[in-house]
Amino acid sequence: MSMPVTQHFELSEFASRGADGVVPYPAEWITDRLLPLCSMLEVIRATLGDRWMEVTPHGGYRTDALVASLLAAGHRVASATQHKQGRACDFIVEGMPPSDVHARILSMQQAGRLPLLGGLGLYAKFVHVDIREKVPPGHLARWEG
Ligand SMILES: [Zn+2]
Repeated sequence: MSMPVTQHFELSEFASRGADGVVPYPAEWITDRLLPLCSMLEVIRATLGDRWMEVTPHGGYRTDALVASLLAAGHRVASATQHKQGRACDFIVEGMPPSDVHARILSMQQAGRLPLLGGLGLYAKFVHVDIREKVPPGHLARWEG
């Protein structure tokens, strides 16, 4: 069953898939967390020319068990990640290297177009964005993985 969150993003894309099985994105967070996150992704998507965007396999919600298994497998993931709170997304953009996507998002943020963006990470194969809480206006947590 597919359920759209926004025009181009499905609820199922944000499910946690780990040793504890497929755990759906928590229903109680959809309105306050996933909807604003996906709305921000839509703004990014439109700015990048409506290119196809895909959430990576572990790029949405992550349960404690999934984070533990990723750590055990040697992945460099944060144990207190925003993914556990359902506030983060790792994604790829068709036909655009992550470094280009990252640069465009940074420009948008600096132009005040992504007011909810609290964290921006650049990895070899994808870009991370999150809408973490309690971020001073204009402040952005940034890192490269
Ligand atoms: Zn991430």
